[in-house]
Amino acid sequence: MPIPCTLPLLCLGFFPLAQGATFERADRLSTSPTPQEPDRLTQEPSAEDPTKAPEGKGPAELAGISEARAAKTVRELVALGPRMGGTRSGKAAAKYLEQRFAGMGLATTRHLGREQWCHQELSWEVTVRTEGEAPYRLERAWPWGFSPGGSGVKVPISVGDGRSEPGSDHALLTGSYMGVRRKGTPSNVVLVDDATTIDGEWPVCRSLRRRGTQAPTFGISSAEGARIRAAVAAGKAVQIDWSLETEIRQARPVTVVATLPGAAGAPDGHFLVCAHGDSDSGGPGANDNASGVAIVLEIAAAWTAAIRAGTLAPPPLEVRFAIWGSEIASTRAYLESKLGAGVLGVMNFDQAGYGSTGQRLHLEPDDIKANEAFIGVAAGVLRNHSGKQGFPERWATNKSLGGTDSYVFSGSRRFRDEGLPAVTLYTSAWGQPDEHPATPGMPGESWSDRDRVAIDYDRFYHSAGDTPENTTDREPENMGWCARVGLLTTLSYLADLEGGRSSK
Ligand SMILES: [Zn+2]
Repeated sequence: MPIPCTLPLLCLGFFPLAQGATFERADRLSTSPTPQEPDRLTQEPSAEDPTKAPEGKGPAELAGISEARAAKTVRELVALGPRMGGTRSGKAAAKYLEQRFAGMGLATTRHLGREQWCHQELSWEVTVRTEGEAPYRLERAWPWGFSPGGSGVKVPISVGDGRSEPGSDHALLTGSYMGVRRKGTPSNVVLVDDATTIDGEWPVCRSLRRRGTQAPTFGISSAEGARIRAAVAAGKAVQIDWSLETEIRQARPVTVVATLPGAAGAPDGHFLVCAHGDSDSGGPGANDNASGVAIVLEIAAAWTAAIRAGTLAPPPLEVRFAIWGSEIASTRAYLESKLGAGVLGVMNFDQAGYGSTGQRLHLEPDDIKANEAFIGVAAGVLRNHSGKQGFPERWATNKSLGGTDSYVFSGSRRFRDEGLPAVTLYTSAWGQPDEHPATPGMPGESWSDRDRVAIDYDRFYHSAGDTPENTTDREPENMGWCARVGLLTTLSYLADLEGGRSSK
């Protein structure tokens, strides 16, 4: 998820430059598979798939949604790398998405954002050699963004504070590190053990500033740091072997947009179903936000299959499925482009595949007047299906928490002036529990009459632990809920719009 400028951090690890980026419409890809070409990357869910919506329970268009396939999508995306805008894994993800949409028969366009600095860590290893012990790897070490690459063998390690720089012949283990802040010779390599998830188990993904001569830097878990600290405190000689291969460059994030045409005679404009495709923190990004991408793909697949099968009519308004190359920057660039001028509503998915404590779905923001009707439709869908197979028993609406892609739209002048909705569906936000006052007149918690709303969190948020194994593989039903509620809500909302037009 998100991150705001003025509100507490939700999801964005760093704001990649690209202020005022402009969108360029790229040619249709001549290399894309034809719409008839079967999807080679992902198989249809098998008949015995227990998570598939059973026939006869719920609208026919939901039968095409599979959380097993969504979980597989997340694994495939994470296997490509962190997918940050402009990086090689970001471009590989764009190609993957084009193939998936083409397999559904949907035409796609690529939209390139403004060139920005990006980083991808390609391979790394850190091994500790403690006097009197067998060497061991730091399995949870994760490089900080914009770390220079390099390697070292049997480098003596010393323990210091955030301002220590023992020089190029020593490694430094420290907490509170911010990178090199003053003149001097940086350490050979730096290990940071206090920038972790709240349980200390995983290093969170941080970035160095691209200024000065920075030392290669790895985050490690609290336990890994404690083991080294204990050895040093016991007077043992401790050395490390390390290596890091990385790519730092300026490049343009790739956004992929697939179009589901509206019915004949549909008015101008389009409804957007979207998710950010980058991990944004630079970590594996399974829950944040391969989960959102997988949900958009499930909705697109189910919707197009239902139209082909004749169980659904084409939508009364063109629908676009967008996977942003770089969170916020790409969204903003789309909105400012000619293409984005026709967007009439937004449903966004972010951190939608896992929640640490609650089994529930959240919708936000419910304190923007323009979202009231849309959230009302979603609440109706949730009430009608609560507890049924494939739907959450508990759900909640909450006020603006800030920072997701939907806020770029709802905060824009046109969305404010025209009262257009932009809503985010999610199942966790941030890396720790939180709660906020309920918005008067809005549903709040479905399971209580409280005047506050508890927000579920993801204990692997923005960390090296945001893997499929830790998140989406554990709770794939989260993505199924979001896809089903998202599709039914959008269908219902568009039908209401059409009804409103025809009754005028
Ligand atoms: Zn996110």
